[in-house]
Amino acid sequence: MGIKNTYKCNKCNYTVLTSAGKDRGFIAVVDTFICKRCNNIVDVCVGEEGETYKRRDVLFKRMKTKHKLDFFSCPICSSKTDLVKWKTRLRPCPKCDGKMEFDSEGEQILWD
Ligand SMILES: [Zn+2]
Ligand SMILES: [Zn+2]
Repeated sequence: MGIKNTYKCNKCNYTVLTSAGKDRGFIAVVDTFICKRCNNIVDVCVGEEGETYKRRDVLFKRMKTKHKLDFFSCPICSSKTDLVKWKTRLRPCPKCDGKMEFDSEGEQILWD
């Protein structure tokens, strides 16, 4: 089961619900990226059933998907080419030069 927590920028008012790194649910495996096209922190599907796919294998369709998930694609703008891994130790805000802080009073959801 996966968990998403609220993170809040310490400079601007950007907040996001994210797994903040690799996490897995019953089917999907997700990892956290910054999408450079829409400037958001997004949890992107990178695999299924505990297995993580390589971006290249997805691009060249070298693996068979079992669940018709959309891998390595931004869930907001569907970009597949602007995803950069979110550095979970530095937690940069995609909107300004602030840092995303864990918000203990923020929303928490269990997905899948
Ligand atoms: Zn910010
Ligand atoms: Zn995007």
